[in-house]
Amino acid sequence: MTTIDTAAGAGDRQIALAEEYGAHNYHPLPVVIREGLGAHVTDVEGRGYLDFLAGYSALNFGHRHPALIEAARRQLDRVTLTSRAFHHDQFGPFCAGLARLAGKEQVLPMNTGAEAVESGIKVARKWGYEVKGVPAGAATVIVASGNFHGRTTTIVGFSDDPDARDGFGPFAPGFRRVPYGDAAAVAAAIDATTVAVLVEPIQGEAGVLVPPDDYLPELRRLCSEHRVLLVLDEIQSGLGRTGRTFAAEHSGVVPDVYLLGKALGGGVVPVSAVVADRDVLGVLQPGQHGSTFGGNPLAAAVGRAVVELLATGEPQRRAAELGEVLHGELAALVGRGVIAVRGRGLWAGVDIDPGLATGRQVCEDLMAEGILVKDTHGSTIRLAPPLVVTEQEVKEAVAALGRVLERRAAGR
Ligand SMILES: *Cc1c(COP(=O)(O)O)cnc(C)c1O
Repeated sequence: MTTIDTAAGAGDRQIALAEEYGAHNYHPLPVVIREGLGAHVTDVEGRGYLDFLAGYSALNFGHRHPALIEAARRQLDRVTLTSRAFHHDQFGPFCAGLARLAGKEQVLPMNTGAEAVESGIKVARKWGYEVKGVPAGAATVIVASGNFHGRTTTIVGFSDDPDARDGFGPFAPGFRRVPYGDAAAVAAAIDATTVAVLVEPIQGEAGVLVPPDDYLPELRRLCSEHRVLLVLDEIQSGLGRTGRTFAAEHSGVVPDVYLLGKALGGGVVPVSAVVADRDVLGVLQPGQHGSTFGGNPLAAAVGRAVVELLATGEPQRRAAELGEVLHGELAALVGRGVIAVRGRGLWAGVDIDPGLATGRQVCEDLMAEGILVKDTHGSTIRLAPPLVVTEQEVKEAVAALGRVLERRAAGR
């Protein structure tokens, strides 16, 4: 097809095609996006929307951020893929920049978030056998209830979400799941076989759950005491979203291993990474782990530009300042159709009164108001606009949510 269908009804035609030929592993809102810029997207029929999902935080810097598009364009004109069989001139600078940003010594670049998690698990197990001295084949990793770390078979095997797990077994052994936010449960689960504690500093998919203040510091203490790697999945929470580079900074905690993804690719290409010191990542020898596309020139060029943006501190500053606005405005809706609001920075989980509407219904109503958001687990919606959103737009979006809930309450 060489022409783009933008005539009236184009959206419905596109949706029909997607339904017929695309696998039904998602249930998208009925909007067909044609263009995006900053916090704005336009559908095939020319309607504009504010994007308050931002690709689950993959679009922290907005759609088509000029510096990121420029970096990609420059690299497209040079070389896009070499494989890791050869060096290329973007790899070293990308790894060095990301390591410096994270305050760590080394970077293992991969592509998707799930791959970063898988890679982190492999590294932790190998570290456990070679450095800690865990008996062969016995390594265990402690994970949290309500976790979301991706969709591979190993990862869904330690999820407790029936939709994520059911029908996909058998699963890999070696994981112990304990309640999220409960450091005592982690302490009780640690034994001589434990190589890592793997958690999200704030659980995104679970509904933007912020753990108790002492949770991460206590995990840090336990891991140091028992010689266990603290592995923080900052794939959604990291890279500016919460008002800091990493969400764990709010608790003054530095993990042994960061897992990064989503925004690391600037919304342009998939880029993920495991970031840690040499005594951890150094367990990998040539041939023991890899990826054809991991750390490719295009990905590394975009990743470098992302790191440069974050090094200015500006995205983090905006998230912190506008996060105050977002949470201030949302607090005024509590008791008016909203039961509770959680989150940090430009990131909020909003529990809607289930007597009023499902999360999905609220998302559909908001779409009609020109705001795109996504529900998660029942009656919770998640607000996570690009960090380039304006204060006015944040207020607009929350005002729209207020109107939607008022109309639902009035039965209109
Ligand atoms: C999205 C996400 C992942 C998985 O990333 P993919 O790129 O979709 O594989 C892992 N962990 C967390 C916390 C995420 O939000």
